[in-house]
Amino acid sequence: MRLSRYFLPILRETPKEAEIASHRLMLRAGMIRQEAAGIYSFLPLGLRVLQKICRIVREEQDRSGAIELLMPTIQPAELWRESSRYEAYGKEMLRIEDRHDRDMLYGPTNEEMITAIFRSYVRSYKDLPLNLYHIQWKFRDEVRPRFGLMRGREFLMKDAYSFDVDFAGAKHAYNRMFVAYLRTFARMGLRSIPMVAESGPIGGNLSHEFIILAETGESEVFCHRDYLNFEVPGPKVDFDNVAELQAIVEQWTSLYAATSEKHDAAAFAGLPAEKRVSARGIEVGHIFYFGTKYSAPMKALVAGPDGVERPVHMGSYGIGPSRLVGAVIEAFHDEAGIKWPEPVAPFRVMILNLKQGAAETGAACEKLYAALAAKGIEALYHDLDERPGAKFATADLIGIPWQILVGPRSLAEGKVEVKRRADGTRELMSPAAALARFSA
Ligand code: ATP
Ligand code: MG
Repeated sequence: MRLSRYFLPILRETPKEAEIASHRLMLRAGMIRQEAAGIYSFLPLGLRVLQKICRIVREEQDRSGAIELLMPTIQPAELWRESSRYEAYGKEMLRIEDRHDRDMLYGPTNEEMITAIFRSYVRSYKDLPLNLYHIQWKFRDEVRPRFGLMRGREFLMKDAYSFDVDFAGAKHAYNRMFVAYLRTFARMGLRSIPMVAESGPIGGNLSHEFIILAETGESEVFCHRDYLNFEVPGPKVDFDNVAELQAIVEQWTSLYAATSEKHDAAAFAGLPAEKRVSARGIEVGHIFYFGTKYSAPMKALVAGPDGVERPVHMGSYGIGPSRLVGAVIEAFHDEAGIKWPEPVAPFRVMILNLKQGAAETGAACEKLYAALAAKGIEALYHDLDERPGAKFATADLIGIPWQILVGPRSLAEGKVEVKRRADGTRELMSPAAALARFSA
């Protein structure tokens, strides 16, 4: 992409309304624009990051055996009356009336709808296990939308729903998502810690929140330091292997980790002082086994091997891709701007022409740009008529992982400079050597 033909509305001023770094940097880098409280447009650069995040989420959901579908944002109120949540949900739900005076709502989540889909088609244990997910916009009229995408009112969610004939099956479904979540966040460069979460009034439920440690996080969290060094399961993990997944989950739940709602101060105080981490965190995912909470009232029944029909065991599993855009920035930035980890970066390489209008630098940049495109590497070419200082500032602000600086002096010696945004290191090399650094 040539910057001269792109839409990247950079703000030079620091927006006053932004309280935390990720919100500030997203506005300055021209990634998002607020349309109303907690409601944002994703501008082109922001959309690219959101799409990268969704791709990783999707790949790991698919790897774990979940199947993607797409449910609508608007739902009929009747469904929610069946589960008795229509009234119970309260003011967070955006209620809408259509022209025929029918009660509708903008979905804050999809348990009811997926249960209705399930019961229309599935009758037998032979069709299980099943896990269906979608990535769809949600609306929750949060009391205090804030921190940009972190706590929006309209936000993107990946929500998966599992269906099993009994608890043993449901536990394996839970473990699949648990392991998929560890992998998903690790691929974005984030260390997530599964923490015991509030599991609702029904006993025997299971629930973990996946938390990223960050000073600006809204949750107060407590955990054992060793979680910071646990090895994340690799891509070869066998999601059908019940014992293998159970062992991973046991390891990742063996030490103390809880959010303030479930905090047990006495148990935490029992850890050696140097192992106690008391910090703030961002909830990026939440997994939940809730048994027959929806299937019983909504009559989603499956016949077991004995022929008897019983309510199906369910779980739901959320990830916030739009919140993750902010969470990644909270984890990777400095004074000058964002430092994208490569897997979620909007572009991989940025070419900076340091003498716009000069024949030599122009030709060298064009050649690099074409060669990167031919290799399938996403590059942003800064070809605007700006001074080098302004180009450096833009490049550091938007945080593309690699910068290729093409200036007249080095070029006269057949060299360009390759700068790595993560640590600021620079290396002089030939354009060919620079290209050889990158493969698709
Ligand atoms: P929170 O406690 O932060 O309000 P929640 O428990 O209501 O979150 P869930 O219903 O479990 O959240 O939703 C699943 C995921 O969706 C969360 O883990 C989070 O990543 C994301 N999410 C929830 N609410 C918001 C929001 N207002 N803005 C952006 N993302 C959100
Ligand atoms: Mg909430």
